[in-house]
Amino acid sequence: MKDISDSGFSTDCHKASIMQFDRAADMMELDGELRQWLNTSFRELSVRIPVTMDDGCVRVFSGYRVQHNNVRGPHKGGLRYHPGVSLGDIRGLAAWMTWKCALLDLPLGGAKGGITCNPKEMSSGELERLTREYIHGISDLIGPSKDIPAPDINTNARIMGWIMDEYSRRQGYSPGVVTGKPIELGGSPGREDATGKGVSMIVSRWAEKENRRLDQTSAAVQGFGNVGYHAAFHLSRLGCKIVAVSDSTTGIINKDGLDVEAAGRYKKDNGSLSGFVGGETVDQSEVLTSKCDYLIPSALQNAIHGGNLEKLQARVIFEAANGPICPYTEPKLPERGITVLPDILVNGGGVTVSYFEWVQNIQHFQWKDETIQIELQAVMYRAFDKVIALAEKRNISYRNAAYILAIDKVVQAGHLRGIYKSRS
Ligand code: GLU
Repeated sequence: MKDISDSGFSTDCHKASIMQFDRAADMMELDGELRQWLNTSFRELSVRIPVTMDDGCVRVFSGYRVQHNNVRGPHKGGLRYHPGVSLGDIRGLAAWMTWKCALLDLPLGGAKGGITCNPKEMSSGELERLTREYIHGISDLIGPSKDIPAPDINTNARIMGWIMDEYSRRQGYSPGVVTGKPIELGGSPGREDATGKGVSMIVSRWAEKENRRLDQTSAAVQGFGNVGYHAAFHLSRLGCKIVAVSDSTTGIINKDGLDVEAAGRYKKDNGSLSGFVGGETVDQSEVLTSKCDYLIPSALQNAIHGGNLEKLQARVIFEAANGPICPYTEPKLPERGITVLPDILVNGGGVTVSYFEWVQNIQHFQWKDETIQIELQAVMYRAFDKVIALAEKRNISYRNAAYILAIDKVVQAGHLRGIYKSRS
């Protein structure tokens, strides 16, 4: 969703991704044509999706699939269902997937899809018809070696199962066309909580770097969907005190530490955190500015902006969401003594286990959960260590370091494939 920064500009994810890319590209002294190749989508598709609703009327929805770059492997990225979805946001989110996969060294490119809809007001049957019709619209573009969708905001294993079925009806059994599927349909152990688990790995690696024990730290988690809940759950299991959580309806603060599992159960039974009594009820915006060591925005883009910058109390922000910091606000965070660990690193656990799922589908062989956890940790720690080392060596932000590492990988692959010819 859009937000107005303190400089008065409205930013969508595309604008934010370009601003972040440009800061790193300037440091790398990339030339103009190379920038243009890296900065623009390979392909963008808009589809009209007519759906017969339960009351018999037909509604037409807008859907998108943007493929940003596939020089290092097939396009990869989630599918988002939200009333605020726009082509501009999907375009930026697709670019972020390219940089995320490159930084994590997964042999995948970047893509993103979205449908402008409110899934909270739709029945399961309506969602199924919407999903199948969307896949009908984009089926020529996707495939196990072309473009592989996955869950994102408001999409889940059930929806991925429909995608697998709809594609397989046309092309023959193809579990590798989509990740985040139910285990029974070729999904991977550990995929559901992978993004949140990965966040907890990055936070604990950071605490280790700061010479702090996690049981001496506190965290506030904004967003209590798949990412926020699992991040809070795994962090609390590691001893970190979760002092505030929020969803789109309310915020809950408890300075002694919340019972994350009880909050999760409450949300599952009641549909939201509203009415949960495990702490003081506050407006959800107060969770972002609550007193904590680590702030973990896990919902939509632009949650942190000029309007709440001065009130932030956390020392470190871990971007579990994609793009939660307005790009105009970000340069002001160091003055406030706030460090940022960027999204393309912090939330990379989801696409990493998606990659493992895709590999298992190609092998037609299921790995053990233990193997997934060991390999996930190896990928997350390796990327974290590389980002920290480069940032310290060049005295630059962690985001710039992450982008430089990622862009460099894509540029190298482009040169080697001959897609982009260097001038020299
Ligand atoms: N939607 C997730 C992300 O933004 C996961 C994408 C995937 O698994 O392909 O990273």
